[in-house]
Amino acid sequence: MERKYKIAIVGCGTAGASSALFLKRLGHDVVIFEKIKEPKPVGAGILMQPSGLEVLFELGLLPSILELGARVDRLFGETEKGRPILDIGYADIDPDAYGVGIHRGALFMELFQAALNEKIPVECGVDIQTLEERRDSVVLKDEKGKTKGMFDFVIIANGARSTLRDQLQIKSQIIPYPWGAIWHIADAPKSGPLFTKQKVLSQVYQNTKKMIGHLPTGFVNHDVKTNLTSLFWSIEMQSVDAWRERGLNAWRDEVLTLSPDTEPLLAKVSSLEELQVAAYHDVRMNTWNTDRVVLLGDAAHAMSPQLGQGANLALVDAMALNAAIQTQGHISDKLNRYSEGRRSHLGYYQFTSRWLTPIFQSRWTMLSWPRDTIFEPISRLSFVRRQMVESLLGVKTGLFSRNQYRSLPRLEKAPSRIDY
Ligand SMILES: Cc1cc2nc3c(=O)[nH]c(=O)nc-3n(C[C@H](O)[C@H](O)[C@H](O)COP(=O)(O)OP(=O)(O)OC[C@H]3O[C@@H](n4cnc5c(N)ncnc54)[C@H](O)[C@@H]3O)c2cc1C
Repeated sequence: MERKYKIAIVGCGTAGASSALFLKRLGHDVVIFEKIKEPKPVGAGILMQPSGLEVLFELGLLPSILELGARVDRLFGETEKGRPILDIGYADIDPDAYGVGIHRGALFMELFQAALNEKIPVECGVDIQTLEERRDSVVLKDEKGKTKGMFDFVIIANGARSTLRDQLQIKSQIIPYPWGAIWHIADAPKSGPLFTKQKVLSQVYQNTKKMIGHLPTGFVNHDVKTNLTSLFWSIEMQSVDAWRERGLNAWRDEVLTLSPDTEPLLAKVSSLEELQVAAYHDVRMNTWNTDRVVLLGDAAHAMSPQLGQGANLALVDAMALNAAIQTQGHISDKLNRYSEGRRSHLGYYQFTSRWLTPIFQSRWTMLSWPRDTIFEPISRLSFVRRQMVESLLGVKTGLFSRNQYRSLPRLEKAPSRIDY
């Protein structure tokens, strides 16, 4: 190791906890500040892609994640009339590849526990509000005005709504998406049409205004052995109050009209309070570091979850930072190398998710016509199909380029790789 750095990480989500693990293992002195007093497993189901699973493998957490999550082989989307729009499988380009549906809270707890096991100090209930970058250090202050530091460098990993990001001399644009999702986690059906769609992320669309998705997500933790499925319902954020006023039965009718298969997932819902609303943001920055501060995960590049990549990108960020920190030079050179190395991968997914989202979630219903007529036939062309599946894998860096990746069986055999 060139030298031991004193590093602060703000936020103990996917990006924060995974980067802490990498940097601690390099021998650096790492502390995490987390706003939530008692972190516990919460959050919707998310789809882990081969890109993110590879990072979890590097961290030694893959076996545990595979035990918790549910295997997903295919993505299938159809209109309310049963016309297929999207039908792609990981095996279309690699028979050994698959995704893993998992609860965001389950992933969080695995990473959080790993950080505690490795004796990484996690100061919970500390809301970092200001950041002062000096020539040779960084100092943080919490909500009580208490100073934390000095640190050699700071990782900002506190999510899409980060206010620390605005304190840096980096141009950023944060655009809330007009549409979001209502999500709910239910027991996975043991029979019926959704049961036959195990291992499938399935979606039903009615023009661009209605969409329902079902994602198998496995278990919330290692002790509970009830297999679960996450359900997502598209909603325009300005309609959330009206949706609440209309009440549960009106929503249930709307859902079941679009997707009668969803019935078993709604059977135990007795109030709208059991459903959660998620908003999305598009965070745009032209770089992700200053001399002594670097942004990872949603704080740096939040996007709509249309492509199912946010948590995977956060994990790849952590692995890329791990590699950049091991290069030669001043901290600022290393952080510059990090940003440069991430540019094409993040650029591809930000651009694609920005363009795809209105085709699935917007008021522009005319966009559903080309989607419903063109998507499926062109996805049968092998070149197009390949691009679509590579996008899903989480490895694209441009229209004609991609990162290397290792599918799961190969992960077990391959030597460690530091490559971004
Ligand atoms: C509905 C929905 C579905 C999604 N589906 C997928 C999917 O299928 N696949 C996928 O890969 N991604 C998906 N995502 C995106 C994914 O959840 C995020 O990209 C990922 O969680 C980002 O991780 P993060 O660590 O950057 O941020 P977060 O998980 O937001 O963590 C930030 C942490 O920082 C803490 N914090 C905040 N402010 C402060 C402060 N001032 N001081 C200290 N701590 C602070 C927070 O409490 C939190 O613990 C989805 C998102 C949504 C909303």
